[in-house]
Amino acid sequence: MDDLEGLLKGHKIAFFSMEVGLTNDIPTYAGGLGILAGDTIRSSADLRLPLVAVTLISKKGFFRQELTPDGKQIEHPQEWDPSKYMKLLSAEVSVHIQGRAVKVKAWLYRLQSVTGGVVPVLFLDTDVEGNTPEDREITFFLYGGDQRYRVKQEVVLGIGGVRMLDALGFKIRKYHINEGHGSFLALELLHKHAMDTDKVHELCVFTTHTPVEAGHDKFNYDLVKEILDGTADINELKKFGGNDNLNMTLLALNLSNYVNGVAKQHRAVSQRMFAGYEIHAVTNGIHSYMWTGESYRKLYDKYLPGWANEPELLARVADGIPHEEIWQAHKEQKKALIDYVNELTHVGMTYDTFTLGFARRATEYKRARLLFSDLERLKKINKKGKFQMIFAGKAHPRDTQGKKLIEDLFGYAKKLLPDIKMVYLENYDINMATKLVTGVDVWLNTPLKPLEASGTSGMKAAHNGVLNFSVLDGWWVEGWIEGVTGWSIGPHPDEGLDIQEGYQKEVEDLYNKLEYVIIPMFYTRHDDWVRMMKKTIGKIAYYFNSHRMMRRYVTEAYL
Ligand SMILES: *Cc1c(COP(=O)(O)O)cnc(C)c1O
Repeated sequence: MDDLEGLLKGHKIAFFSMEVGLTNDIPTYAGGLGILAGDTIRSSADLRLPLVAVTLISKKGFFRQELTPDGKQIEHPQEWDPSKYMKLLSAEVSVHIQGRAVKVKAWLYRLQSVTGGVVPVLFLDTDVEGNTPEDREITFFLYGGDQRYRVKQEVVLGIGGVRMLDALGFKIRKYHINEGHGSFLALELLHKHAMDTDKVHELCVFTTHTPVEAGHDKFNYDLVKEILDGTADINELKKFGGNDNLNMTLLALNLSNYVNGVAKQHRAVSQRMFAGYEIHAVTNGIHSYMWTGESYRKLYDKYLPGWANEPELLARVADGIPHEEIWQAHKEQKKALIDYVNELTHVGMTYDTFTLGFARRATEYKRARLLFSDLERLKKINKKGKFQMIFAGKAHPRDTQGKKLIEDLFGYAKKLLPDIKMVYLENYDINMATKLVTGVDVWLNTPLKPLEASGTSGMKAAHNGVLNFSVLDGWWVEGWIEGVTGWSIGPHPDEGLDIQEGYQKEVEDLYNKLEYVIIPMFYTRHDDWVRMMKKTIGKIAYYFNSHRMMRRYVTEAYL
């Protein structure tokens, strides 16, 4: 049947995620959550874990970002052709939406590892003959449309996903709900197992990714009633999903026997938000091979053979690899980045200039403006030691503040010229992220605490000897050793300063460290700089990778 026979054997863990970032050509991701899902799948394939992933086909992608010369974001659909990368399976299931039976089919993508492992990824699709035109669009736009559209998507993902796995003959022992978008799967399991909550509990694992109350999907029960139309008892649903609204996080919390946050700090925040639930921490990681640039891959292959499937070996970088070769690999990757930026923008960046990178979703809490609190100070710092800056990131189509943020950054760039060269690159995606995290000198992150659940781009940077300079939030609280693996910005979370005090300390720290510590070290203490590069690889990359993360999920959550 459809090439699946071999794949069916032993695939007992189902990983559900609304977004998945596999390759640049498959635009079914919006940001960190999707990239993490992609790395989860890649590491599972390498480690030959019996995992099958379920997501939506998002045929028109998230969006392609165009930026006008003033930094106004224009969104374009990102049409792509699934048949170039995957195969449409013949199996068909249906889900009930507003009283209609909506047909769901699945595309099979085989993620094949060089180790011989394979993870099947099922991309659910409602663009099926016989469905109404409106229903055919349910799986078009990732995070598109209104609440009604979102509930429909989540019904297709959660309920449709469980049914599709059954239809294909998968024997699933654990369902991993990656963020609340997939929580309807637990409802479907309740129905499948005659409302036996103990049974469903045993089957479900839930990872929460959102450290703010407002970030969790919540749906009005009238809307839920309209969409599910008699296929679920709303009073029953309220027992698990909350009284006032259907809270998808609560639904998953109440029906999973293992729940985790994505960094130790995030676990603590989640524990306060959801008192009474036991929340664990599995700190995120990134796929080491995927996010290591060409030059460093060669270097690690030479000195630490086997590192890609055993990233623990990277702990030995400091002992084994000569200084000059670490620096040479960095120089090569930096040159590739600077050439790429100059080609895109004609800004004339130079190879030897200290280069700062900052790329992530353009949304308020990431606070890209922090660095620009005092433009005169920036110019003064640049007079003592020259620097250049590369920014990128998409704002969600409905996030007007995020869009304004991009415009403001364009404004700062103009004001800083000709002293400081700064670019904001258009259409941040996997390929661009790879270029940036492998090629800058320092990776900057200035989120508003405690809103960065984990963050992962800094881990990618560290795999390439790029030093992190970041607010102590998310994963960085665990990865940071001052002056050894990178630098902090502002107070430690344990200091418990109020927001205003904290903000002032952050701004001072940001400028002072740039001016007196980081840039001087880059230009005048080369050996110390390279020593830090080695420390950052050795003490961060060996741990903050998705191989370690998946081994933890297996031993602590799946088994
Ligand atoms: C890694 C990555 C992210 C997530 O970065 P954060 O630092 O966690 O915000 C987002 N988008 C792309 C394309 C990435 O590669």
